[in-house]
Amino acid sequence: MSKKYEVVIVGAGISGAALAYELARYTDIKSICILEKYEGVGTLNTLGKANSQTIHFGDIETNYTLAKASITKQTAKMVEKYCLQYNLENEVIFSHQKMALGVGDKEVEFMLERYEEFKELFPNLQVWDKEHLKTIEPRLVFDENGDERPETIVGVGSQGEWTTVDYKKLADHMIENAKKQDDTTVDLFLNSQVTDIEKVENGFVIKTKDKTIEADFVVVNAGAHSLYLAHQMGYGHEYSCLPVAGSFYMTNQKILNGKVYMVQNPKLPFAALHGDPDILENGLTRFGPTALVLPKLERFKSGTYKDFWTTLRFDKKIVKIFIDLLKDSDIRNYIFRNFLFEIPFINKKLFVRDAKKIIPALRADEIEYAQGFGGVRPQVLNKKEEKLMLGEASINTGEGIVFNMTPSPGATSCLGNAKRDVINVTKYLNKNFDIKKFEDELVEENISQSAIDANEQKQYVSKIREEIKAHEEEYYQNINDGQELPSYWNKPYSPWRNKRDHWAF
Ligand SMILES: Cc1cc2nc3c(=O)[nH]c(=O)nc-3n(C[C@H](O)[C@H](O)[C@H](O)COP(=O)(O)OP(=O)(O)OC[C@H]3O[C@@H](n4cnc5c(N)ncnc54)[C@H](O)[C@@H]3O)c2cc1C
Repeated sequence: MSKKYEVVIVGAGISGAALAYELARYTDIKSICILEKYEGVGTLNTLGKANSQTIHFGDIETNYTLAKASITKQTAKMVEKYCLQYNLENEVIFSHQKMALGVGDKEVEFMLERYEEFKELFPNLQVWDKEHLKTIEPRLVFDENGDERPETIVGVGSQGEWTTVDYKKLADHMIENAKKQDDTTVDLFLNSQVTDIEKVENGFVIKTKDKTIEADFVVVNAGAHSLYLAHQMGYGHEYSCLPVAGSFYMTNQKILNGKVYMVQNPKLPFAALHGDPDILENGLTRFGPTALVLPKLERFKSGTYKDFWTTLRFDKKIVKIFIDLLKDSDIRNYIFRNFLFEIPFINKKLFVRDAKKIIPALRADEIEYAQGFGGVRPQVLNKKEEKLMLGEASINTGEGIVFNMTPSPGATSCLGNAKRDVINVTKYLNKNFDIKKFEDELVEENISQSAIDANEQKQYVSKIREEIKAHEEEYYQNINDGQELPSYWNKPYSPWRNKRDHWAF
């Protein structure tokens, strides 16, 4: 006879693990089962080698508006609070300095304005000018001749915050922790790929190769395969999945002290590459991720090509979404360049050219394509609205089954997403959610008071603005003299951009 659970979770990545933990700790649900396809917890996108290991708070992610950042910060803080509650410092959660780097007058002004807007939400945010960057992140400042890079740059970031997580270890901890909670049974079955879910009168029947399990409620946290299973049951046909693989390049020595992000193009959130100290590689700097559409749903695993076509549900509407995306020159160039990043021999040179925007003196012999690193972001296409959805997607059928797709930054938002599902599950099953206990343990009460001297920061901001002004004046003078500033305009990184700025003057 098949065993019946109140809740079955499909997928033991960070999303499934966070949900199991919250259900076990904060609700009166008595039986939970997790079914995982592979031999361990978090072997796909949750794996430390698959993602950038960042907790995205919204301070250095320049595509976030203030409103979006205030929500993201709250869910990101849940991850931090979980780790601190269980003393996981320097084992699961790590601290690095972090910043978003503005390069050139336009980006610098953008970063300064953003700092002024965001400093209340992020009281520890600081502005670092070139002089200060020389001391904390010198490789951002000097070019291949050891000279200071000529453009204005600014770093807006913080020090002493928790920034980095081994999400696989966190998922392991959450599941073990869920099992320890009183009055709840939590069973994890590995090597148990769910092949079929059927809605029956009193719930659901879930099938794997060798097991049949029953459930009152099912949450499918199976990454790109969530949509595959939803389609199989007749749900979510208005959505398709576009698997966007991300790869990385690793340096052969530690060249950054902390995380360095760049100003994002709002049309391509999370597309600008960044440099991060890799906690699994003794702090070597990992650059990336790149972005390439792959015709398979899982990276570094065999098969799933057929699953890709099934989940894409290719038709005229998909063609229209692709054509619309390709019409935009920023997106077209981005797709093309990222395709070239995967081609051996030319990829490294091209990648180094882009990464020089962060580190002007970066040499090709300092980095290697990181074999075996990277994952797949299951981006969702909305056929009804004929557009690419940029964030996460959740199909709540209202019939006792939910399907979640979690591209970046889905690991950061695992506990926030789980809370949403806990509310759905308890409401549907008429169970209780101890929201007070949840908030006491996982929700940040007060935003800490600024530890940073506001006056000192104001001085930085005006000093950098003066620098920009002086630079413009110098530039005008040279134009008037009929002399250009070749060292400024003829840099290897984004020369077309500088030229365009030149024309704008
Ligand atoms: C290149 C890259 C960089 C990223 N960087 C960051 C970052 O810095 N910070 C951040 O917050 N996020 C980041 N992300 C996103 C983050 O990795 C994902 O959002 C997160 O791992 C999603 O977790 P998940 O549990 O939903 O999915 P996954 O980790 O993909 O787990 C899904 C699980 O479901 C299982 N499964 C699938 N099908 C079945 C089935 N039929 N039956 C049973 N089990 C099944 C799989 O085996 C897997 O274990 C990044 C992603 C990529 C690709």
